[in-house]
Amino acid sequence: MANLIITIDGPAGVGKSSTAKKLAQKLDAAFLDTGAMYRAATLTAMQSGCKLDDIAALEKIIDATNFKFQITGNQMTVKINDTDVTEQIRDTNITDNVHFIASAPSLRQRLVKMQRQLASEQRKIVTEGRDQGTVVFPNADYKFFLTADAAKRTKRRADELAQKGIKVDAGKLQQDIEKRDDSDRNRSTAPLVPAKDAVIIDNTTLTLEQTVNKIMELIKH
Ligand code: C5P
Repeated sequence: MANLIITIDGPAGVGKSSTAKKLAQKLDAAFLDTGAMYRAATLTAMQSGCKLDDIAALEKIIDATNFKFQITGNQMTVKINDTDVTEQIRDTNITDNVHFIASAPSLRQRLVKMQRQLASEQRKIVTEGRDQGTVVFPNADYKFFLTADAAKRTKRRADELAQKGIKVDAGKLQQDIEKRDDSDRNRSTAPLVPAKDAVIIDNTTLTLEQTVNKIMELIKH
């Protein structure tokens, strides 16, 4: 296992990826976006034409698929059977359907195994998701849980999409974010919840830089 593991969990749009990437850069650590893994599994399931609630069939499909999560410094490339899907997994179509895979314990187990394997190959790692501090790396060196108002998270996500030239209806986006958070919080396996020993940071009024600096102050490495 890596000799420095930092977990960052929290709801959608709170800036986990941006924070984890910047932090990883400052610490010369690898960066792991576990949401990308749930997205890749969802894309695979959708491409198979299989019903997304047919978990037994999905287990077989996931087991027969070659996923590659390549960590190069603070970038992560996702490949499914050697096809680069790093961008494709961001489609709203995937976002809307990811809860099927995310709420299936046997599928989560498979992804958790991959996450631990990836961490074992790195010297230092900053990993972000929903269950990193609670389930995947309960003995992490540092655990953080980011929160922010839903309206602020919506604004950040809308700005991010606008930068890519995608215009969205802010009201609908906020509804989607809140629906996804509800589903992540209320599932029975690995729900979105802070680990007991996580430091909770409300970054509603903080910039990305301020959030990263706050974390840096709490890390002694
Ligand atoms: O972080 P991102 O928005 O890409 O995550 C997509 C979805 O994947 C989340 O809404 C959640 O349902 C699921 N997920 C999860 N556990 C993780 C990371 C993501 O259940 N560790």
